[in-house]
Amino acid sequence: MKKTLLRNVTLIDGNGQEPLPSAAVIWDQGKIVEVGLESQIAVPPGADILDGGGGYLMPGFIDSHVHFFANGIGLEAALMTPPSLVVIHAVHNAEKTLHAGITSVRDAGGTDAGFKRAQVEGLIQAPRMKIAIKILSITGGHGDEYFPALGQVTPLMPMGLVCDGPDEVLKAVREVLRAGADVIKVATTGGVLSTADHPSHTQFSPEELNIIVREAGYRGAVPAMAHAQGAEGIKNAIRAGFASIEHGIYLDDEAIDMMLTHGTYLVPTLHAPLSVIELAESERMIGSFVKKAHEVVEIHQQSIARAYQAGVKIAMGTDCGVGIHGTNLRELELMCQIGMSPMQAIVASTKTAAECIGWAGETGTLVPGKWADLVVTRENPLTRIASLKEPSNIALVVQAGKVVKRTEHIASGAIGDQHAG
Ligand SMILES: [Zn+2]
Repeated sequence: MKKTLLRNVTLIDGNGQEPLPSAAVIWDQGKIVEVGLESQIAVPPGADILDGGGGYLMPGFIDSHVHFFANGIGLEAALMTPPSLVVIHAVHNAEKTLHAGITSVRDAGGTDAGFKRAQVEGLIQAPRMKIAIKILSITGGHGDEYFPALGQVTPLMPMGLVCDGPDEVLKAVREVLRAGADVIKVATTGGVLSTADHPSHTQFSPEELNIIVREAGYRGAVPAMAHAQGAEGIKNAIRAGFASIEHGIYLDDEAIDMMLTHGTYLVPTLHAPLSVIELAESERMIGSFVKKAHEVVEIHQQSIARAYQAGVKIAMGTDCGVGIHGTNLRELELMCQIGMSPMQAIVASTKTAAECIGWAGETGTLVPGKWADLVVTRENPLTRIASLKEPSNIALVVQAGKVVKRTEHIASGAIGDQHAG
């Protein structure tokens, strides 16, 4: 692979530092070798050259919570889509996500090791993945695919794994680890999209959660992530040593203090309840899901705002799969609506998200030695954060040095005299 120089951009490096105009970056063999002021960077002989067109260079974005194998929550689609079509949709979902500027994700349930491997082997265009395989759930919990008229159904491609009591949770952890889980996903409370519970309900006992975290720790310190919405289930997860709290709808002061003490990440997914409400207008959904989404949407925003103000580490995640794949970067606009600055929202979606999902050494900031994962936008996200959600604004996406999206705004070719040489 030849060296590549990308020039004529303003650098927003993911660390939260002031933007650097007239910047450039060089990568080689998939990794960044130099980044900084263009006038101080020598053009490597024979390098490919890309002109960023005065756009804004950022690290490839990271979504800490997606479900590539989920396609909204429309009832008919869920019942009438055969498994092969679900897989083909997943391929498209992943490609749309990558083209939106997301170069890495953590898939929080439903995606298997084969799909992850297809990305590694270059068979599909997708963000690189860490995967949870399945969501561990109690009987009647968030992840138990139960319908009052049918009982507990077993879909051909289940997302949940029901387990109760110390023996079953131990076995369930071992099963998802055997299947290739990079992270253990557990529903420690009820949720919006479950038929027999409420987001405030506590699920699993502290004893069960301790067993899960201990067993995951035995396998090379595999972390655990908690779908956790009610305060007690959130606190149980933090005490047990879960690395991240997903959703965090009913955080109270004690939970926020505990997150600060334990260094627990918060993945807000503000995108998710809004998507349920918006999509309910066009798709037939289970009424109680929509009702619960309306009930929690504002409480959720207030809860995340308080955690942010208290200094809890926030990693961007959307729960896309509930919402529409490829709209992930709308989450930054939503994070700014609860009080974050555009720069803080960008850091949450790059550096902090990389830390949360365990790739801090590899991606999340633009520094030499990390993967050349980068995005160039036409518009300055610091002046209009909402511009990030517009696909036409994403002019260039590079993943591990490979150009995966490039619009006509990114020219290739020689450099004028006024620039580095
Ligand atoms: Zn989720």
